[in-house]
Amino acid sequence: MALLRTVGRIGMDAILPPRCGGCGIITDTTHAVCADCWAGLRFISAPHCACCGYPFELDDSANIPGGEAVDGQALCGNCLQKKPVFDRARAALVYDDHSRDYLLRFKHADRTDLTPLLARWLFQCGHGIWDQADVIVPVPLHRRRLLNRRYNQSGLLAASLSRMTGVPWDGLILGRKRNTRSLGGLGPSSRKREVGGAFSIDEDRAGRCGLDGARVVLIDDVLTTGATANACARVLKQSGAMHVSVITVARVVR
Ligand SMILES: [Zn+2]
Ligand SMILES: [Zn+2]
Repeated sequence: MALLRTVGRIGMDAILPPRCGGCGIITDTTHAVCADCWAGLRFISAPHCACCGYPFELDDSANIPGGEAVDGQALCGNCLQKKPVFDRARAALVYDDHSRDYLLRFKHADRTDLTPLLARWLFQCGHGIWDQADVIVPVPLHRRRLLNRRYNQSGLLAASLSRMTGVPWDGLILGRKRNTRSLGGLGPSSRKREVGGAFSIDEDRAGRCGLDGARVVLIDDVLTTGATANACARVLKQSGAMHVSVITVARVVR
């Protein structure tokens, strides 16, 4: 049977050669993007805000000493003004037309085959976070939305990252008790109102997986205003989480 499966897979590879995760042209590596698509993606790198990960090189107004890597403690204006509830956020990509395209296909077009590619980007941008993490938690979908979409894209990424890092993941600790409206087009305060109280913790499960004192890595697709990440971090911390890092595929930069 195993042999049959192997033969089957070799056969499939011959019929279906690896394709670019972006445009779909044939490439020589699986789970990769072609050079053109790669060039279109804007990966976020240091220097960035030590807390929320806001990239400084894109922000002309940020008064950061010239060119030095600020893996120290430089904070962006927003974090200086009001520290988020989460401790740290990192994103692989700037949210723009290109990254939005990947995320839309991943979320709505049944392109779950993009999981390894996106997970690898998340893994790289979470450098320094994985070796201290106790549990990976995906931002949940409300069950009605889960029924429509059939899978939680953040759950797929969490499972994949768990395999890559050896850090356990749990898709049931954090639940969404209220189906929030789509946050697209809402401003910061409306977003905050919309997601406030939308999340809850399964205390039995949290107890079993040792959430008390744990360092949690929260996985989501996009960081916009941070309202969702903050709402999740709040309930996780109320239930004992010591530290919450947020890792997203992309983040809005404005
Ligand atoms: Zn391509
Ligand atoms: Zn910041």
